[in-house]
Amino acid sequence: MKKIFINKTARRRFLKTSLSGLALATLPGISFAQSNPDVVVIGAGSAGLSAMAELKRRGITAICIEGMNRIGGRCYTDNSIFGVPADIGAHWLHGFSKNKIAEFGKKHKDKFKVYKEKGSRSFVYDGKRKVDGDELWKIYEQIKEIKYTRSSDVPMIDLIPEKIKRNSWFDTVHKMVDEGRDLSNFTLGDDNGNWNDPGSGDGLCREGYGALLAYYRKDVPVKLNTIVNEIKWGGKGVQVVTNKGTINAKACIVTVSVGVLKAGKIKFTPALPPKKYEAFEGISMGFSNRVLMQLKKKFMGKFKDDSYLYTKCKSNGAKSPETFYGLLKMSGSNVSLFGISGQFSKDLENQGSEAMIDFVINDLKSTFGSKFYKKYFIKAYASGWANNPFTFGAYSGALPGKATLRPELKKQVGNRVFFAGEATASAFATVHGADRSGVRAVTDLFISPALG
Ligand SMILES: Cc1cc2nc3c(=O)[nH]c(=O)nc-3n(C[C@H](O)[C@H](O)[C@H](O)COP(=O)(O)OP(=O)(O)OC[C@H]3O[C@@H](n4cnc5c(N)ncnc54)[C@H](O)[C@@H]3O)c2cc1C
Repeated sequence: MKKIFINKTARRRFLKTSLSGLALATLPGISFAQSNPDVVVIGAGSAGLSAMAELKRRGITAICIEGMNRIGGRCYTDNSIFGVPADIGAHWLHGFSKNKIAEFGKKHKDKFKVYKEKGSRSFVYDGKRKVDGDELWKIYEQIKEIKYTRSSDVPMIDLIPEKIKRNSWFDTVHKMVDEGRDLSNFTLGDDNGNWNDPGSGDGLCREGYGALLAYYRKDVPVKLNTIVNEIKWGGKGVQVVTNKGTINAKACIVTVSVGVLKAGKIKFTPALPPKKYEAFEGISMGFSNRVLMQLKKKFMGKFKDDSYLYTKCKSNGAKSPETFYGLLKMSGSNVSLFGISGQFSKDLENQGSEAMIDFVINDLKSTFGSKFYKKYFIKAYASGWANNPFTFGAYSGALPGKATLRPELKKQVGNRVFFAGEATASAFATVHGADRSGVRAVTDLFISPALG
């Protein structure tokens, strides 16, 4: 996510050894012999870990199962690529003033440096020319005004006056505000109709948001490499069918992404009510990826940390402008983050990680000179969230005309199948929202007759 994510009034906007790896290695194992628990939690991202912790706190027997070989889901820090922390998914601690995970990090100063983002130090380039950015910020403010005051459930692009769309900075601004969905596929009905977060502002964590989340949940037991294929809920309780056997329980909490649900990767027997499937279609996944690049210290030599880079995009009003934003020198490291989004992100991901990295390098060459690669480049990595079978996208967003379906996502079914995850949260598309949704789902379970 990027600058406009950075405050939710303007809503949305790196330990040498991997802390997330450490947390994983020390997780106690669980065998299915210990099952049949009262509750099965499916997925060990922010929401699943939160639900499991809450069940444990309330003394309920539960098992949390995760398809991947690690915890964290879409919030994961890798230290092995560059030897320094690199967030492959979530990076900004949104809703910072009331973000519990941030609060936890601030209390563990020996392990984490969690800090409020220092405002917006930005570099704006028109080709090779560094410009003051006044024209870009003027367009940005005009679009921001539309973004935070309108709530029609129509494509946001239709709400933008032609004069703004014709401005030569529009394509750049389009990608600054798009939340993983091109503006022709993005509705303010969702943003201003369904969003509610008591917190404001954005923070950063030097050790990475994924590392922080993993440490926050280091005591939550998770059974890894356990893929759920089917949930049978027609009889008494639920039978959760996995690649490692079937778990019987009174209830389950499903925390997988709407991308996974929409793809039908988990079969529900009997089928869920039709409105649920409508919601999986209507609140679909947006696309966002990170190209992370380790650059020599002399790149932007004078500037130490967390500066934004915007370049003039020349997509000529394309539906999905082909550009990125940069967050240079993350937390003072020599790794910079380049974010791409929307259909362009998905199309580029389909071409492979080399194509993604080449795109960013070529754009940086046209800004910083043809010798950019030779002078500054060390190493790069590109994420692939759209094709990841455990996510099928980056985060949820309503399609135009479908915003009213979001509340359907969190409704429980049959007093035994409960739903959590970012898409069900009022601060959707965020880690802290997903965290809260885990507790909310456990509350729903307690007020239902599920536990008997
Ligand atoms: C590129 C990118 C940038 C982002 N930037 C930010 C940001 O800066 N700040 C922010 O707050 N948020 C950001 N987000 C969003 C944030 O990462 C998510 O909203 C949040 O992490 C979702 O948590 P979750 O628990 O709901 O889902 P997930 O993290 O997806 O967890 C669900 C888990 O279920 C598992 N699973 C899936 N299918 C199965 C199955 N069949 N069986 C068993 N397990 C299964 C998955 O492997 C996963 O671990 C970003 C996301 C991406 C991808």
